[in-house]
Parts: sequence; structure tokens; C-alpha cells
Amino acid sequence: MPAIRFNALQEARNRQPIEYDPGLKRITEIFGEYVFNMYSMKEYMTPEAYKSVINAMQKGAKIDREIANQVASGMKSWAISKGATHYTHWFQPLTGSTAEKHDSFFEPTEDGQAIEKFTGNLLVQQEPDASSFPSGGIRNTFEARGYTAWDPTSPAFIIGRTLCIPTVFVSYTGEALDYKTPLLRALQAVDSAATEVCQYFDKNVKKVTATLGWEQEYFLIDTAMYSARPDVMMTGRTLLGHAPAKGQQLEDHYFGSIPERARFFMRELEYECYRLGIPVKTRHNEVAPSQFELAPVYEEANISVDHNSLIMDVMEKVARRHHFKVLMHEKPFAGVNGSGKHNNWSLATDTGVNLLSPSKTPKGNLQFLTFFINAIKAVHDYSDLLRASIASAHNDHRLGANEAPPAIISVFIGSQLTNTLNELEKLEKGALSPEKKTDIKLNVVGKIPEILLDNTDRNRTSPFAFTGNKFEFRAVGSSANCAQPMTALNVIMSSQLRQFKADVDQLIEGGMKKDDAIFNTLRDYIKESRSILFEGDGYSDSWVEEAEKRGLSNVKDTPRALDFYVSSKAVDLFESNGVMNKVEVEARYEIMMEEYRKKIQIESRVLGDIAGNHVVPTAVRYQNTLIENVRGLKEMLDDETFEEVAKEQLEMIKEISKRISVIISEKEAMIEARKKSNKLANPRDQAVAYCDEVKPFFDKIRYQCDKLEMLIDDELWPLPKYRELLFS
Ligand code: ADP
Ligand code: MG
Repeated sequence: MPAIRFNALQEARNRQPIEYDPGLKRITEIFGEYVFNMYSMKEYMTPEAYKSVINAMQKGAKIDREIANQVASGMKSWAISKGATHYTHWFQPLTGSTAEKHDSFFEPTEDGQAIEKFTGNLLVQQEPDASSFPSGGIRNTFEARGYTAWDPTSPAFIIGRTLCIPTVFVSYTGEALDYKTPLLRALQAVDSAATEVCQYFDKNVKKVTATLGWEQEYFLIDTAMYSARPDVMMTGRTLLGHAPAKGQQLEDHYFGSIPERARFFMRELEYECYRLGIPVKTRHNEVAPSQFELAPVYEEANISVDHNSLIMDVMEKVARRHHFKVLMHEKPFAGVNGSGKHNNWSLATDTGVNLLSPSKTPKGNLQFLTFFINAIKAVHDYSDLLRASIASAHNDHRLGANEAPPAIISVFIGSQLTNTLNELEKLEKGALSPEKKTDIKLNVVGKIPEILLDNTDRNRTSPFAFTGNKFEFRAVGSSANCAQPMTALNVIMSSQLRQFKADVDQLIEGGMKKDDAIFNTLRDYIKESRSILFEGDGYSDSWVEEAEKRGLSNVKDTPRALDFYVSSKAVDLFESNGVMNKVEVEARYEIMMEEYRKKIQIESRVLGDIAGNHVVPTAVRYQNTLIENVRGLKEMLDDETFEEVAKEQLEMIKEISKRISVIISEKEAMIEARKKSNKLANPRDQAVAYCDEVKPFFDKIRYQCDKLEMLIDDELWPLPKYRELLFS
């Protein structure tokens, strides 16, 4: 066996679990110890500064410079007491990971000593050397600088010896260059729209918060294996590899060495998360071998998004100590279940009500139905935006591949709520008679049980499912930043709730009672949104046909899905809700198109390299062995016997030659296709060309390589095989 594969296998197989024992500390003792949360703020800040930050967090109030100095000083003292020496503005540029620029608290003084310095200015605003972050042309056309600005709604935390301050990243002229800025704006928009609608039901509601609980799936593979697979190293996924004899089809969970090592990894990860105030609960079993899941208790959406971005970093770091590599890719192994990140979403009032949870009273349920039906209507009207918000080169492998929801967006609500909507849809237009209203309130609205039966019997094939007290957006990819789908979901909800308020108010102005106006509007919405509701099997072919008849989109690739972002419908939506202006939307679109093109381009180069420089030479070597053997037989044997015994080997030689030549010619053709695509003028055309002209070569080349893997002597094959990657 080639040394590279042999050594990797040896290393992985000899790996001992690295025990992790955090000692006997109770979770309650360590939870949030590295977070500048309200508790530590109270301890380290003046009452004035504390009040001001709380106001900023809860009401979006501005913090003035003098107060910012006090906050900075408190934050610094706290951080230093925890051993921090540096601070950084922590942000989420559109590259998909997090970014930091560390600065020391220390400043030398004239007398040769040093002081610890951290001022309000340094807290509030900073100019990172941002020229290498994608800006979609914004900073070219405007200012050549971007800056980060403190987001007081997400608490600062410490990683290692660095105080990390969550920030937004915007261009000098104020355009969003990150994931967080539009999210914060969308959350603000949905807050004000939902609060106004809540006023119909409860005047005490002053604020509505979007909540998010994500479920992160991932694979763990041994670092030695990882290092021996250039495709996984460079692209996060295997670009070739024959399916193992034993895959997930047995649906058993493999209790080899990984699970024990993984358990220690998870224990340490959990511990780190608790210290960072991330309320996680790990889960051990996923569908595929070496696949796992992590999910926290839900939180306010902005904090939850930050926690997800943070955890993706922390996972990498902790994994390294256990000699693991975390694969966040949506589809690391062909033929093996991929990874997603379900986004559980709801809206909660400051009076403690989950607006997507059925309640005990008819009045509470009318409020629930209002938000529930508006959410369905929003998804109906903007399903293309939701589709665009989860589009990525990686996720294209998952959507519609019969393991994840299809690329068709639909909503599952369960049979009980389907019945409720059917009843409401039957209502006549106009004011209801008092008897009818009582009847509806008691027998329809009042009959929605607090715990829905469907809650346990969910439809796993739906991309957007109601699960009892929240919607679960299941099509989100495992490596995605949740901010993107959360921005989309909250902005469409905001827009829809505004529309609802306008529609209801219009009826009220026309003389209708409030209840009647609400019933009438909801009835219309149910009628208008029918086509998005689907209770059946989302993986079935018949659904694809049915969806087409219903006029639902089925956009299979990222470049086409992204096109919706720049439609006038989407731009209007973003602008009218104050989430992004046209320049920002277009910049983002360009960045995402470029990102797509780059990913496919890298995959194409790596595949070409592996196929040409690893697979073909190996195949040639094996072929030579066969030729040698056949030649020997020919010398030894008479013609007749030779014919008889060498036939299969001759066939094999021919087959190997054939496959080698196909690989070489397809690889050349792929390079030509890349060259042509690179010449195109704009990012969109390039992305489309990469999708339509370059990507199709992947399967063709892979097919030949995987066939060769089965033909060639295992002793010669240089790359760790699927069974070794997944089961070692
Ligand atoms: P699963 O979908 O795997 O069966 P659960 O139903 O237990 O898992 O919950 C999934 C996720 O839903 C959890 O991460 C939880 O925090 C989240 N969740 C529960 N209630 C809400 C809510 N009101 N808003 C947002 N997320 C929620
Ligand atoms: Mg789930």
C-alpha cells in the first residue's frame, strides 16, 4: 500500500481516545463564565453604564461616548480578571466564517512601563484591514474602507486570552458587508410589525423577539485520514471514492473507536460551550456513520446566530485536540447522508407568549392563528426568497437528493391545523353573525389543542414544517451562516404582518368589528396560500409533478436560485422593510455568485489533479502489472491455453485503458470549459457557466475513477477509501 495511505491508516487505527474530564464542577458553576453577561456587567460597570447597555439591548437605544468609555472600562476589567490580554472585534463577513483582528490591551508608556488601555472608541468602532473581505464592488465604488461597529445586543465573550466583541461589518458609507447587519435590521422590522399586530390582542405587548434554535449536523474524521485526502482538505468533501460495501443502508450505528473518541470530544465541546454561555445539548446518533448532531436550547435569533458561528469555530479547535477534523460540508460523502442545520423559528412577546404556540383560550388561539397563517402566507408569497437564502454550491448536493427536503419550498402543518384552516376558509365574506362567531370561537379556534398530535408524527420530508410551537426550516445547509435564512424569514414575516395590519385596519375603517376583520383577512390569506401547503411525501416524484401543476418553483441550482435576490420583488421587500438597499442587495448577489464560481472552480481543479496525478498513474501501474503477467503467460503457454486463461485479463487491460483515456479526455474538456467560463464578463454568467458547463464533468470523471478503484489492486490505491474514512 502506498505510504501515504498506509501511514494514515496506521495512525488513525492506533489512535487512543483522549479522555476529557472537566472535573467535578457543576454546569451551573461554569455556565457563562467567559461571557460578559448581565450578571458580570452589573458587577463591573457603573449603574449608569449598565442601564444604558440594557436599554440598548432591549430597546435599541443609542449609547453615548462617555457611557461607552465606562462600558469599555468595565469590559476591560472583567476581561483582564479572566486572564485576557487582547481584544478583537468579532464579525461575520460574507466569506462564511468569522473574522478577528487582535489588538493588545497593553500600551507602552513614556517611562518604559505599560498600561492596559481600552476606550469607548476602541469598543464602538474599528477599522480592520478589510481589503481582503468580499464587498461585491461596494468598496470599489464608494470608499476603500470598511469598519466594524459594536453590537451591544450580543454579549462579549472570551476565547483563549482574547476578549471578543460581536460587531457588524459595514462599508464606510454604511452598506452592510456582513451577515449580521441585515439580520439585525430584519429582526427590528419584524419586532415592530409583530408588536403592532399583537396590539389587536394585548395592549401590553411592547416588543416581539424572533427566536432561533438550530440543530447542527457534522461529520468527524480522523486528522490522519483527512490529511491523506487532498479533495477533503481542499474542498471539504470527497470528490471521488467508491461507496463502501457497508454503508448506512444497514441503519445500524457503528460502535467502533470513533464513538468513544467522539464522546470525549463532545464532552469537551459541551464544556467549552457552557463556559461561553451556549446552552447546548449534544446528540450522538445521526443517520450516517461518523455523523453527529449538536443542538442548543433556542435563544433570541441574533444571539443564536452568533452562537452558531462561534460554535463552528470552537468545534474546530476542540476537534484538533482529539485528532479529529470536523466536516461541516453539506455532502462530504456521495451516497451517504449529508448534513443540514434545521432552523427552528418562532416569535415571542415580552409578555412571555410564544406567538406560534396554540394557547388555552380562544382569544389566545386567534392570536396564534393570526401569526401562523401570516407565516404561511409569507412563505407562499416569498418561497423563492427562502430558496435563495439557503442556496450554496454545497447545499445543491443535498436539496432534492432524497435525504433532505426538495428544492421545492412547501409548508407542512399537520392534520389538525389543516382541519382548522379548512373550517376558517369556509367562512362567508363580511361580518359574522353573533351565533356564527361564537360557534367558530368555541368549536374551531377554541378547539386547537395546546399539544398537537402531529407534533410527534412529523413529516420529515418537508422543507418548512410546523412542529407544534415553531416552524422548522429544514432545508438550511450545515455549513451555512443561519443569519441568511433568518434574515429572509424575518423580513418576509415583517412585510406580511404589515400587510395584514393594513388589510385589517382597512376593514375596520369600513365599519367592521375587529374580530370580523381579522377572520375575514385570515380567510382570504388561507385561500391565497393554499398552493404552498403540502402534507405528503416531499421526496416523491409525484410531488415534483404536483408542485409544478401548482405553479411552485423547483430551482435546482444555486446561480438560478440566487437570481431571485435581485428581482424587483425582492429588492422592494428588502428596501421597504429597511433591511437592505438596492446597492447592498446587488453587492451580496455578486459576492454569492463569485463564491459559487470559486467553489466549483476549486473542486474542478482538485478533481482534475487527483484524477490525473493520483488515479491515472496508479491505473497505469496496475495495467503494466497485468500486461507483464499476460506477456509471461503468453511465453509459457501454447496459444490455445493462453486464449483460454488470459481472456479476462485482456478484457481488464482494455477496460482500464478505456477508463484512463476517458478520464484524460474529460479532464482536458473540463479545463477547456473552465477557460471559456473564465472569459465571461460578469460574476453571474461565470457562475452559470461553471454550473452548466464545468460541473457536469465531475460526475463523468468520478464515475471512471470509482470504477478504477474497484478494478485496481488495493495495495496500489493511494487514497484512503470510503470505508477507511468512515469506519476507521
Ligand atoms: P427535533 O427537531 O430534532 O425533533 P426538538 O423538537 O426537540 O428536536 O427541537 C428542535 C429545536 O427546536 C431545539 O433546538 C429547540 O431549542 C428548538 N425550539 C424549541 N422551541 C422553540 C421556539 N419557540 N423557537 C425557536 N426554536 C425552538
Ligand atoms: Mg429538527
